[in-house]
Amino acid sequence: MNSSTAARNIKFQSNSGFPAGRQSSAIKLVGDSLKEPLVRAVIVTVLCVTVGIAGLLAQARTGTLSIYYIDTEGGQSTLFVGPAGESLLVDTGNAGERDLGRIVETLNTAGVRQIDHLWTTHYHGDHIGALLALARQVPIARFYDHGKPHPNDRIVAAAFLSAYDELTQGKRTIVKPGDTVRMTGVDITTVASANQYIRTNLPGGGSQNASCEGVRQKDESAYIDPDNGESAGFVLTYGQFRTIDLGDLTWNGELDLMCPTNRIGTVSVYLTSHHGLERSGSPALVHALRPRVAVMNNGTRKGGAADAFRVLHETPGLEDLWQLHWSHNAGLDNAPAMFVANVDDNATVASVLTTPPPAGRGGGPAPPHSPAHLVKVTARQDGTFTVVNTRNGFSKTYRAK
Ligand SMILES: [Zn+2]
Ligand SMILES: [Zn+2]
Repeated sequence: MNSSTAARNIKFQSNSGFPAGRQSSAIKLVGDSLKEPLVRAVIVTVLCVTVGIAGLLAQARTGTLSIYYIDTEGGQSTLFVGPAGESLLVDTGNAGERDLGRIVETLNTAGVRQIDHLWTTHYHGDHIGALLALARQVPIARFYDHGKPHPNDRIVAAAFLSAYDELTQGKRTIVKPGDTVRMTGVDITTVASANQYIRTNLPGGGSQNASCEGVRQKDESAYIDPDNGESAGFVLTYGQFRTIDLGDLTWNGELDLMCPTNRIGTVSVYLTSHHGLERSGSPALVHALRPRVAVMNNGTRKGGAADAFRVLHETPGLEDLWQLHWSHNAGLDNAPAMFVANVDDNATVASVLTTPPPAGRGGGPAPPHSPAHLVKVTARQDGTFTVVNTRNGFSKTYRAK
């Protein structure tokens, strides 16, 4: 165990259920009211043992970080449950019963009764779709986002924004690069928000990024949805395990974030930005992060672009790509089915393989298949993590290096 791991352990134990301030004041109170030294010593000992046991129980409750990647058919919704049971939901998929039902089911599976932190990357319908309906079913303690939507965006709905303003009053944090979310046992640092990027180095960051070489900016001037580029993104660290979620941050934003200096270092798991569309996922980002595992939040016809697959397959150190959905765009280039959580029926797969659909980015009305399967990651502090496909039970453990 190195010293930074030891420091994290100590911090974690002191946070596991009993704030230090409350412990000492309880002991002080007993001490003032009882002058008999033996009785006082016994009570203090009992208190200490109780606090110790409670702390151990809290730790035993999980001792791991769990991540549930929910299939929202080309949107995003990802649930994190920290080692002390605290929850973070990133985005809420599309509007309608389908994604709402899948999110609520995942919360139930994870034993989450309150969302402690709800992080919205940006305001597109595939990321905020179920938010208002979800808030009517599940208590949400705190909200995080990038602030006002991009003024030129033609997709963001004004009706949603006014309802969101009302819902989040007094509970909302507009994050800036470098801001952290206070979640017990994990470190969550904002690295991108509202087209601003972190300019200090995270642990392991600070070196010249050789993967920027030869990567050019794209012409993004014709995009009708520039709120993608405003996406609030973070790096989440649990001991030696790290993961990154940048929402739908586009190519040029990735270059601003990662070039010429890689402030972030490397990650264990990379959630493909923007569902694996070719508008994101530049080598400057993906190759420099050197993820061991990538998870693609694609739909049947959204994301899963040939270019995105190519960049991933050229990533040094990438061991596996897991997909939330079998992609019609990718055909035979999809990951092996073991690594794909949701697969169409045989007839659909056969017809896609024999007559591939024209390339396009539309999600299309995906059938509300039930159940919808997860890609689930369970991570330990030493950096070892296991990925499970809940469709077929296939799992693979990536041991700490
Ligand atoms: Zn999206
Ligand atoms: Zn978007």
